[in-house]
Amino acid sequence: MIVKLLNYTPNPDRTCAAAAFTSWKKLSPKEIFENLTDEEAFKFLRKVISYGHLSVTEHAYFTFSIEGISRACSHELVRHRLASYTQQSQRYVKFNAGELKYVKPKTIEGSEFNREYDELMLKIAEFYERMLAKIPAEDARYILPNAVSTNIVVTMNARELNHFFNLRLCNRAQWEIREVARRMLEEVRKVAPILFENAGPSCDRLGYCPEGELSCGRRPVKSKALRNL
Ligand SMILES: Cc1cc2nc3c(=O)[nH]c(=O)nc-3n(C[C@H](O)[C@H](O)[C@H](O)COP(=O)(O)OP(=O)(O)OC[C@H]3O[C@@H](n4cnc5c(N)ncnc54)[C@H](O)[C@@H]3O)c2cc1C
Repeated sequence: MIVKLLNYTPNPDRTCAAAAFTSWKKLSPKEIFENLTDEEAFKFLRKVISYGHLSVTEHAYFTFSIEGISRACSHELVRHRLASYTQQSQRYVKFNAGELKYVKPKTIEGSEFNREYDELMLKIAEFYERMLAKIPAEDARYILPNAVSTNIVVTMNARELNHFFNLRLCNRAQWEIREVARRMLEEVRKVAPILFENAGPSCDRLGYCPEGELSCGRRPVKSKALRNL
């Protein structure tokens, strides 16, 4: 897979800090934005985030190009509703058998099923190509499996991204979306280090695992008493 940050709100940390200061200062947001020192901006933004006043982090948007993930993974991704998506269409984009790409999990690659998996994918691709010659792509695509590769553009604000990282960097998340999340975080940390300073699985933020008996054991599970709160 290839995950790249295509575009983002310029000066994301500073923009969110100026928004936060707007509620505290007589100055206009523009004056605050232009006159804040980086040190003031980052210190205040950290403080507001630590208070849980996260709405200010909604002012920074990030747009990603995600290439070569499986349809299984893109389906998990688009469950995150506070985001915008544009995905490669299986109605408008048609592939011949040789072009049809798919994702193969490492567990399959290293198993006795490896060859059979590739052979079956090739058979599906050939059948798909044959059908395409006679029926519309919107119907021929019904034969394509979860493994088939897709491209998608995703835009999320920093608040939703941090929520996404909480869920999808958790060891309980499936490996492919976890890898997407890891690469997205790597990208945004380069341009917004304060907004994503504490990004990670929920257990890092909470100090315990909220997943109960499904926990990976990385952190202690939330006690029964806490769970009933
Ligand atoms: C490990 C794991 C396993 C999963 N397994 C399954 C599964 O087996 N089956 C399945 O169907 N899904 C599964 N999911 C998907 C999961 O149920 C969520 O759909 C997905 O993680 C999106 O999370 P979300 O709803 O918190 O976030 P988003 O859609 O990103 O929304 C962000 C937040 O906005 C708020 N919000 C958004 N929409 C509404 C609304 N309509 N009403 C009120 N508040 C809203 C909520 O606070 C929400 O947390 C799984 C997810 C994970 C991480």
